[in-house]
This record gives sequence, structure tokens and C-alpha cells, in this order.
Amino acid sequence: MNDHEKSDEYWKARLTPEQFEICRRKGTEAPFTGKYYKETSPGTYLCACCEAPLFDAETKYDSGSGWPSFYAAADGVIDQHPDHSRGMLRIEITCSRCGSHLGHVFEDGPQPTGLRYCVNSLSLKFDKDQD
Ligand code: FE
Repeated sequence: MNDHEKSDEYWKARLTPEQFEICRRKGTEAPFTGKYYKETSPGTYLCACCEAPLFDAETKYDSGSGWPSFYAAADGVIDQHPDHSRGMLRIEITCSRCGSHLGHVFEDGPQPTGLRYCVNSLSLKFDKDQD
């Protein structure tokens, strides 16, 4: 079965209630509360649901937003969708493999891309490099 076709029951059994709300119901964690927004160690950030490698820690930076922010994503692992909620147009980002909601991407990031991938900590699982 393709990860996109897995049921709510499948994910409920594998995620915490907080993660289910963010990842499978497109929720947003409160800023400055997440586990990874201050994390600066080298490693790889994986999808919390399917463990697809999404972001290299080298592209993580402090955007001041209170959410983990990256200026680039791995190739071909993220889908973008127009999101008209909350009276504005934003671009939602999801995991290409399993459809998990990650956050949004904005065009106010640093060079070399000018992008800011703004991601919920609960949507991520950090695979820290071994020392
Ligand atoms: Fe995924």
C-alpha cells in the first residue's frame, strides 16, 4: 500500500495525538515551543510519519519565527499546494512520500535560494550525525 493511501487509523496508532493533529490534520504548533527550533547539530531531518529524508541540518537557520526554518529541501521530496486559509495565500508543503503536512514555504529566506521552509517540529524527526 502506498503511504498516501494509509488511513487515519493507521497514523493514529503510530503518532502521538499532537503529531496526528499537525501531520494529518494540517495543524500548526505554537511558535517557540517545538523540540527543534533551536537545534543546531549536524544531521538530517526526516518526515515524522514515513522517515523520508527532507532537510539537511546545514540548510537550517534561525528565521526568528519560532519554527524550524530551512533555506533548501532535499530534491523531489516535498509537494507544494496553494493554501487560502486564514484569509491569505500561502504555499503549504507536504511530504511527497506520505502526504504529511510539514508547514509552509515563503520567499523571504536567505541566499542562495531566497526561500524559507517553515516547518513544525512535530512534523520532523531529527537523525543527528554521530560524533
Ligand atoms: Fe512522509
